[in-house]
Amino acid sequence: MADEDALRSVDEQLDVVLGGIGAMDPIELPLLDAQGLLLAEDVASELPLPAFDNSAMDGYAVRAVDTRSARPDAPVTLPVVGDVAAGARSRSGMGPGLAMRIMTGAPMPAGADAVVPLEDTDRGLARVAIRRPARSGECVRRAGEDLRAGTLALRSGAALGPQQLGLLASVGRDRVLVRPRPRVLVISTGSELVEVGQRPVFGQVPDANSFMLTAAAKDAGADARRAGIVGDDHSELLDLLESQLLRADVLVTTGGVSMGAFDVVKQALSELGTVEFVRVAMQPGKPQGFGHLSGKVPIFCLPGNPVSSLVSFEVFVRPAIRKLLGKRNLQRARVRAVALQPIDSIPGLRQYRRGVLHRESSGGYSVSLAGGPGSHLVASLAASNCLIVIDEDVTEVPPGAPVTVIPLLLSNR
Ligand code: AMP
Ligand code: MG
Repeated sequence: MADEDALRSVDEQLDVVLGGIGAMDPIELPLLDAQGLLLAEDVASELPLPAFDNSAMDGYAVRAVDTRSARPDAPVTLPVVGDVAAGARSRSGMGPGLAMRIMTGAPMPAGADAVVPLEDTDRGLARVAIRRPARSGECVRRAGEDLRAGTLALRSGAALGPQQLGLLASVGRDRVLVRPRPRVLVISTGSELVEVGQRPVFGQVPDANSFMLTAAAKDAGADARRAGIVGDDHSELLDLLESQLLRADVLVTTGGVSMGAFDVVKQALSELGTVEFVRVAMQPGKPQGFGHLSGKVPIFCLPGNPVSSLVSFEVFVRPAIRKLLGKRNLQRARVRAVALQPIDSIPGLRQYRRGVLHRESSGGYSVSLAGGPGSHLVASLAASNCLIVIDEDVTEVPPGAPVTVIPLLLSNR
């Protein structure tokens, strides 16, 4: 049990979280389901790429020596002894002093060592006039020039974007071993919450957190879903968690982790002994719970105020999801920006303020505050595009001073 009065630093708590999480076990997925994931095997190409010598142009396959004397005003004329199209299933052959009409991607005939592009010829069918000499190897794509047979196409850990999926298809892989998306389940707790769309009566609040955090988890790369709302009731919460344990790789709850009489998440899960509730030196997001259920499923118990829950997600859950995905860089990029307003901060706490980041015409950044510090301010949160980080030892940022900013860029997942 953590000492109720001692605050744990953000970095220490993040170490605890990341120490309790490893990368997902690899699974095999069809190529298009692997988009955005990390490869979990070395992929070698059995065949060379390209697999056979082929033409880079539409033109005529020739022996370069036969075109040596060709000039625009004195072309060399060669008999055309056939056509080779892309997809030709056998290798054609050609004797000296002859030419074959050839299409882009078609296999080079045996006996030819260069292709003269159509535009340097008269495009003849029975005989072709060639207006300049070809170099040996010109317009020929060599077998294995892109990738030799048996060599590595992609290394384990490679991120699979469109280009990498194209290469995997080129080497004949329709399924690959990857780190899958973790299944994240988001549960909102609070007896005051109503399902969105239902008209709240006095004292009720629509459940916003589960939408916000499910979206944030998807954005971080997870396969996320909402489990709806549970009231402030021990057995209701424990029953829901138990029923979902086999269907989730990560559980996220919001609400019920403060010191109030009805903070049921903290009460119910503390008793299990595998979830630790601490106070972290940050604002918002001071009360945090993290641990494991059934010895293996990580659970994050985030505070209920919407801004607190999103900031807590950004600080602890997003890096954890990235670790599960097998990523090495767990943190969002940060930028330095000039504060346009004074910002004050409580000593000893790392403060995350919502901000609007602007790109200056000079190329640098400036940032203004989006609303006050209150962690209930969802409209201000929605107007922001970044978090402004004020370190523990800073109590005042004067206007014009540089601050650290985490842009909350939307991914295109
Ligand atoms: P709690 O952490 O449970 O004490 O909740 C703190 C504040 O956040 C209360 O005002 C709650 O009504 C509000 N809150 C908790 N959960 C949600 C939620 N899912 N959606 C919107 N507001 C919430
Ligand atoms: Mg509550």
